[in-house]
Amino acid sequence: MELKTLYREIVNEHNLHPEHKRNLENPTMVLEGVNPSCGDDINLQLEIRDGVITDAAFNGNGCAISQASADMMIDLIMGKPLEEAMRLQKSFMGMIQGTASEEEIEELEEAAALQDISHMPARVKCAVLGWRTMREMVEKLEGE
Ligand code: ZN
Repeated sequence: MELKTLYREIVNEHNLHPEHKRNLENPTMVLEGVNPSCGDDINLQLEIRDGVITDAAFNGNGCAISQASADMMIDLIMGKPLEEAMRLQKSFMGMIQGTASEEEIEELEEAAALQDISHMPARVKCAVLGWRTMREMVEKLEGE
């Protein structure tokens, strides 16, 4: 199978069968992220205990890339300390901007399937929506 086809399959799979598209019973933080240029919206829900993301989920509507990216992000950040989640967030943004190292991209696991988006400027906002929203939430928390 061609690598690009495999990547497309991963994105499709996360879009059609998102594992984390649900509502948390006791989220400690909820934030809506929107990308008006495509009509994507994501309601990101985090449960944070002692600086660790103990549970996470999202709800929303939008294109396959925005929804799949949020689902893959939650796969990665679930159970991680906030600093680690923010480090992965930076790697993801770096990958999309074409500045991440191979090591950084590898750590993103399935989310690395979105690396070709760096050549599709119109879709960048879709791919980063969930990640941008997560960073906003952590920054708010740190500002408190
Ligand atoms: Zn989109």
